[in-house]
Amino acid sequence: MVKKVLKFGGTSVGTVERISYVANIIKKEHSTGNKIIAVVSAMSGKTNELIKISKEISEEFSKRELDVLLSSGEQVTSALLSGALIKLGIKAKSWMNWQIPILTDGEHSNARIINMHIDKINKFLDEDGVVIIPGFQGISKNGDITTIGRGGSDATAVAVAKILSADTCEIYTDVDGVYSSDPNKIPVAKKIDKISYDEMLELSSLGAKVMQSSAVQTAMMYDIPLEVKSTFSERKGTKIFNQDNIDYTKSVTGVAYSKDDAKVTIIGVEDRPGVAANIFEPLSKAQINVDMVIQNISSDHKTTDITFTVKRDDVLKTKQILKESAKIKYREIVENNKVAKISIVGAGMVSTPGVTYRMFRALSDENINILAISTSEIKLSVIIEEDNTLKAIKKLHTTFELE
Ligand code: ADP
Ligand code: ASP
Ligand code: MG
Repeated sequence: MVKKVLKFGGTSVGTVERISYVANIIKKEHSTGNKIIAVVSAMSGKTNELIKISKEISEEFSKRELDVLLSSGEQVTSALLSGALIKLGIKAKSWMNWQIPILTDGEHSNARIINMHIDKINKFLDEDGVVIIPGFQGISKNGDITTIGRGGSDATAVAVAKILSADTCEIYTDVDGVYSSDPNKIPVAKKIDKISYDEMLELSSLGAKVMQSSAVQTAMMYDIPLEVKSTFSERKGTKIFNQDNIDYTKSVTGVAYSKDDAKVTIIGVEDRPGVAANIFEPLSKAQINVDMVIQNISSDHKTTDITFTVKRDDVLKTKQILKESAKIKYREIVENNKVAKISIVGAGMVSTPGVTYRMFRALSDENINILAISTSEIKLSVIIEEDNTLKAIKKLHTTFELE
């Protein structure tokens, strides 16, 4: 007997037929004697639809009420899946976050699961019942409903697996595993059989939405092995686990991309000590995350240009803060919203020299200009013009033999 957490994403529960299909997967697992906890997302598109409706009421819709609204999507699928199992003759029950409860800390829309009461869940499992838990939601210590960030059902599944000491945590989705790049956009992308937590964390933080990054982080912290697999095929998925078990013959494991960033350049800033601090301090106080930074060498020793990237959603606020700051003197601020961040990720990069140069050469062969660069031990990211995204990813697949 094995205790399993099975998480089903939005597409997997996107229609009534699919919910019935998922119920049959659970039935099969349950019939072999396993204890099953299913974590479900809202039907695909539902959360976006609810956000849109909230904006029709107000662009500044209350964050508390938004969490109440958004959590309804997962409530619907939990009840439907439970009902589908009951129809198949299986004892099943769904609980809302506040009934369990699943306790969270932190702000609305971006809370974090800190604990969960397990007595009634374990009791129901012992009575041979299938437990259905809605992903993405929790309850704060004040008793308010919270949500834990977009794609957060993955994080719920991992937290539930940890707190209930499950033997496995399987992420069922609409692709049959983690690929070197998004297989829906890059047909040459190749499936990865196994990948380390560190690499998966980089890939998901840099845009591979197949796993939510905070879920990977929790799995890594508590060493909870994950498997990403397809709801719609029996093919073997991708195992995500501790890197000791991985072989590093390849320098690059995957190529992630995101179009969430914007590049900001401050032209003609004074070139003297303390200027960078004066620029980035007010941004940090305003919770604006600065990612890459480049400072040009000043030719006249008086002024220089500083380029950095922030999330696109933060560009207006960034410009406003810089304009209002009395401490910063500059000639002009220019921004570019039409950029993409392309990142190569691989634990093998640590031991393979020349990866950086090969990436730059590959992009230059395609006539792609690099606008900013950042590196860490196992990743290398560049900012390029957004129109070149697919061309760059394809070229990097060829260069690093990922096809
Ligand atoms: P779910 O609703 O099941 O949580 P998501 O839409 O969040 O599913 O994640 C699955 C999607 O992630 C896939 O349909 C695919 O388009 C996308 N994706 C992005 N990068 C990758 C990658 N490297 N490997 C696999 N899928 C990826
Ligand atoms: N429904 C939520 C979202 O769309 C959570 C999830 O699907 O994981 O972000
Ligand atoms: Mg997801």
